[in-house]
Amino acid sequence: MSKKYTIAIVGRPNVGKSTLFNRIVGSRKAIVNDISGVTRDRLYEKAEWNGVQFSLIDTGGISASEDVFVREIKEQAELAIAEADAIIFVVDGHSSLTQDDQLVAKILYRSKQKVYLVVNHLDNAEQHDYIYDFYALGLGDPYPVSAVHGNGVGDLLDQIIDDFKQNDDSAASPVDDDDQIRIAIIGRPNVGKSSIFNDLIQQNRAIVSDIQGTTRDAVDAQFQDDQGQRFTITDTAGIRKSGKIIESTEKYAVLRAQMAVEDADVVLVVIDASAGIQDQDKHIAGLATDEGRAVIIVVNKWDAIEKDDHSMQEFTAAIREEFKFLDYAPILFVSAKTNQRIKQIPEMVVQVDNNHKMRIQSSILNQTILDALALHPTPTKNGKRLRVYYATQVAVAPPTFAIFVNDPKLMHFSYERYLENQIRENFDFAGTPIRLRIRARK
Ligand code: GDP
Repeated sequence: MSKKYTIAIVGRPNVGKSTLFNRIVGSRKAIVNDISGVTRDRLYEKAEWNGVQFSLIDTGGISASEDVFVREIKEQAELAIAEADAIIFVVDGHSSLTQDDQLVAKILYRSKQKVYLVVNHLDNAEQHDYIYDFYALGLGDPYPVSAVHGNGVGDLLDQIIDDFKQNDDSAASPVDDDDQIRIAIIGRPNVGKSSIFNDLIQQNRAIVSDIQGTTRDAVDAQFQDDQGQRFTITDTAGIRKSGKIIESTEKYAVLRAQMAVEDADVVLVVIDASAGIQDQDKHIAGLATDEGRAVIIVVNKWDAIEKDDHSMQEFTAAIREEFKFLDYAPILFVSAKTNQRIKQIPEMVVQVDNNHKMRIQSSILNQTILDALALHPTPTKNGKRLRVYYATQVAVAPPTFAIFVNDPKLMHFSYERYLENQIRENFDFAGTPIRLRIRARK
């Protein structure tokens, strides 16, 4: 697996960070999460340059209110240092150096990552002289750029990607431990993510890694269960700085969740039983399903509510009602405070991870499909009947099945759902989404 890079764009407000972000990732529209119906902020996107894939973070989108400017700028720079492999620092070529620019620079001096100083708004070559002021920041040669017109952006990316490649060649290749399961813990602030994270580390054998890691290790930890299965776990609560978690805005929490989900095999969606299910819980859970990850719903603070014989059933029903798009996810009721059932998390993670990566033989799969067809006739449309010829699994993680038919337009949503359910009834896909691709047989 080749290394995945992250580039962060920082700078004081209104220097053109978002314009540069859009220029680099292209003009893709904001992604609407059609499951939870929430528009995602485009703070974090994948992009590619010269055949190298990377993720780009626009720290400018992580804004709170105007009166906390300075704190905000600091927070963005800290975020970039903690999360990125390279930092693009944008200043405005049409204005002189400001105190805020200097503030950002001061924080970036501490970063181990390379900082690319970009002087923006230089729309033509005559204006390139404007870059000289910015040498004063002490961050090397500035790159003249026009984010609006695109001038200079290619040169900048060429350089960044070149530097990535060079570093890769010189660095000892990192150990890519494919046997380990990567877990992300996501959820609203204060649902107990960090508490669960800490419990898991304490109850299992923590692995102290001597591999030179990324700065992201600040919130990553590795542990091993009694069977020797290794896990890497990411807490998305926030950047830890000398033991403290930097206070973070809501958008920032979503960004972290998005990044962690992308890297994970299994996602723990944590809900606070004492607070009940909230809209933001659904939004955050939607991030995991968007990426096709295996999911376990962890209901935390189970100690903190009044219970009777029906509580678990009632809460389960409420979750099933609110999280219809996660009907395949097992639910675990835990308490990070009393450690109740925390031990079951790794076991369940192993199970759903297996399901997520499971491969079904075509002959067995087709028997299931044949049985399903016999049980329920295929739909018709305008007098034409859907014919299903055969099915085959084309991918794992998540399991993806191609179903070959006479005409995909004849497939009805409810019939597709029926086939999915039949597959689920015959094979244990608990915890993982499965996808059907309806194809015309050639
Ligand atoms: P995070 O923001 O999701 O990481 O949440 P934290 O782990 O920081 O927990 C938020 C608050 O909830 C803290 O005051 C914890 O002590 C408390 N808390 C966490 N887990 C539990 C639990 O299982 N039961 C109870 N009663 N409180 C909990």
